[in-house]
Amino acid sequence: MARPRTHFRVFATCDIGRDALDLLRQRGYEVEVYGELEPPPKRLIVEKVRSGIDGLITTLRDPIDAEVFEAGPGTLKVVAQDAVGFDNINRADANRYQIPFTHTADVLTEATAEFALLILGCVARKLYPSERLVRENRWGAWHPYLPFLGDEVTGKTVAVIGTGRIGQAFMKKVVAFDVNLLCYDPVYQAQDFVRKIQDEFDLRFRSGFARSQRTARYVTFEEALAGADFVSVHVPLLREGESPTPTSHLFNPRTLRLMKPTAYLVNTSRGPVIDEPALAEAIRTGVIAGAALDVFEHEPLPADSPLRAPELEDRVRLFNHFASAGRITRLSTDPELGMAGRCVQGLIDVLEGNYGANPARMPYVVNKEAFK
Ligand code: NAD
Repeated sequence: MARPRTHFRVFATCDIGRDALDLLRQRGYEVEVYGELEPPPKRLIVEKVRSGIDGLITTLRDPIDAEVFEAGPGTLKVVAQDAVGFDNINRADANRYQIPFTHTADVLTEATAEFALLILGCVARKLYPSERLVRENRWGAWHPYLPFLGDEVTGKTVAVIGTGRIGQAFMKKVVAFDVNLLCYDPVYQAQDFVRKIQDEFDLRFRSGFARSQRTARYVTFEEALAGADFVSVHVPLLREGESPTPTSHLFNPRTLRLMKPTAYLVNTSRGPVIDEPALAEAIRTGVIAGAALDVFEHEPLPADSPLRAPELEDRVRLFNHFASAGRITRLSTDPELGMAGRCVQGLIDVLEGNYGANPARMPYVVNKEAFK
């Protein structure tokens, strides 16, 4: 007997949100969810694919490459990633095996951008040392500058490295701090967008909201680093060979030295974009003032990471890859609002043959080039 059109078998390497997975079950899908908090070993993913699943739901913790695609010839039809970044998925391999993979762009843009701005403020205004002082009952008398001071954000210069979705959303938010903006993106220059930001700066000045006229403009990478008090990074992880302008170790001993000694580096993109030992050393020796980091070369951050050095504690804020972790952003079943909703919709589009069963026309498919 022919199986009903929506009886698909799906394996999720993680519980991306019960309500969203239930949407699949209500459509007749058989959904198995890996029950542990840790990611499954790769051999289990391969095993599941070999068992004939139609769809695989993944997170950024799962390495997906030829070994996985090879295990399900003719059966595996889609990989649906619950993230916007997809550096864990080998795109060339997916294309070779003609497997579309989807991601959850857009719905996490605002949450990630606001988090970047908040942790920028957190490190600059020394929120952690301040709270620790109070909690440890070491708060002495009020004093004009002791035991420490922070650095204001208002009126400073902010560099935005990578002016895609999240970089642009970050700019919209930081405008309220009346900063100057230095933008850098070697691939796509959002000139129209930056012009609108400039219009907003002009209006704020003309109407008396801002005391100084502020500017937003594209500059070279070197100019961005040399001129900024804060550098916020919003690039995808692109390894050598994946792009003419790779981003792995974009921040290294040489480029960190281009920054001001008073500047802070904020990274909510991907850990390997920064050479971590070099960053720790740059902060330790005063090459730059500090950093706020949500992502790391190895996650969870190893116990012996140089970024954990107690002497850096007041200047380095560390977070648990948390930037998109807003309740609605992570769990909403609405594909216009939540990663979970968008992830399952991407899977449904492919398995149920929406958009004329043409992955190149499906909005959440990343590797459209393989289907044109
Ligand atoms: P996007 O593709 O819209 O924007 C990325 C921008 O970076 C593009 O404009 C691209 O041209 C630019 N770029 C590429 N190479 C560059 C280089 N060498 N130097 C400078 N810019 C370069 O992506 P997005 O939606 O804005 O997301 C950006 C990244 O943020 C994702 O790929 C993901 O890795 C990361 N992210 C992290 C979290 C988190 O929880 N911390 C959440 C969401 C996204």
